[in-house]
Amino acid sequence: MRVEILAIGTELVSGAKTDTNSGWLARRLGDLGLTARFITLLGDDHADNLDAFRVAAVRSDVVLTTGGLGPTQDDLTREIVAELRGVPLIEDRDSLEAIRGFFARLNRTMSPRNAVQALVPEDCRPIPNPVGTAPGIWAPPRPNDPQVRAAFVCLPGVPHEMKTMFDERVIPLLRDAFPQAFGSNVLTTRLNLFGRGESEMESQALDLTTRGRNPDVGITASDGLISFHIRSFGSTEAEARQRLEADRQEIQRRFADFLVGEGSEELPHAVARLLAERKVTLALAESCTGGMISTELTAIPGISAHYLGGLVTYANTAKTQLLGVPASLLETHGAVSEPVARAMAEGVRLRLGADLGLSVTGIAGPGGGSLEKPVGLVWFGLATSQGSIAHRSEIGPEKPRDIIRKRAVRIALDLVRR
Ligand code: ATP
Ligand code: MG
Repeated sequence: MRVEILAIGTELVSGAKTDTNSGWLARRLGDLGLTARFITLLGDDHADNLDAFRVAAVRSDVVLTTGGLGPTQDDLTREIVAELRGVPLIEDRDSLEAIRGFFARLNRTMSPRNAVQALVPEDCRPIPNPVGTAPGIWAPPRPNDPQVRAAFVCLPGVPHEMKTMFDERVIPLLRDAFPQAFGSNVLTTRLNLFGRGESEMESQALDLTTRGRNPDVGITASDGLISFHIRSFGSTEAEARQRLEADRQEIQRRFADFLVGEGSEELPHAVARLLAERKVTLALAESCTGGMISTELTAIPGISAHYLGGLVTYANTAKTQLLGVPASLLETHGAVSEPVARAMAEGVRLRLGADLGLSVTGIAGPGGGSLEKPVGLVWFGLATSQGSIAHRSEIGPEKPRDIIRKRAVRIALDLVRR
């Protein structure tokens, strides 16, 4: 099964916007057991679109496109599909009603141009859009037409519309049209780990990551978070599940100390779960991470029961005035030091009345490092009713500021978990 992706929009090829749709679609294809052969970016140009669609129509079985379905002049996808197939565009009543309904629900007047979005190439079907105006297009394959072997699935460019439509409408369509390729016997999962380097983890899993093995296991790393992607195949779903389970358990056993969660479960979720399980509250004192840990935690629904709040204490005076860190401590040891990290954690714990106080203070660079305290040195503090502990990390003087800060966020969250 040959699948490819075309992401359309001048903003994508000009660099004004980063294409996130293709990566998302490619990952979804992976979940379905397929790998995209090509991902192409192209601008809103008629000749270029026709060219790209023509090439894709003969070299692939399924072509997923995003963008170009809007109501404006530069939105060309409908026209191109019709031109490729040599059929006229006709108005689809249901789509027009759906678009009218969408505007009515929002109490907005519909511009006459939006009616364009109800046009569909004659031998194609609209794909309803439950969350926006532009319906998609399902252009079935034409096995007897050497110019149009591929099926086209055209989706809007707006990421959340594209995603909803793909999951709710397109997957069933593809399963129907290509039962042998989009069968149900591919199962995938992702196990997330933290606390060891990618190469070290990989070296302990070489037997699992061998090419051509079933399940197929791949490792990726992002800001210190290591993910094992497991994809298992089976002649039945039960067989695929059994294989997936075996690998899941093996990875969990080998890396038990570092396991964070499964699927979209990352460190903030793990911390939220742990706080809930232990019925404890947390308060934060952040310096070099400037509130980033707080941002991550507050992204989790329901965290308000366990996360009380955080203070961004950047300057020494803020550490003294807001957290009660003694000025003498700052003078003697410097802001990036074990005693200050502990005093920050203890201070915020007491002032917010939390069970746990967590602090971060470090040198994010690029300036401000010394031989004794290099760029990338970060101290973390964790205070409980029993006292406080500190943890020291050298994230690396060669790392850019944003990486040092992101890594510090993860190390801090990991510390709460331990
Ligand atoms: P609409 O009817 O909603 O306008 P459309 O298909 O015409 O749908 P576009 O106008 O191309 O979509 O894009 C709508 C929005 O989605 C824009 O903000 C655009 O930057 C964004 N977008 C389009 N394609 C992508 C992509 N590949 N990755 C990320 N964002 C995208
Ligand atoms: Mg566009």
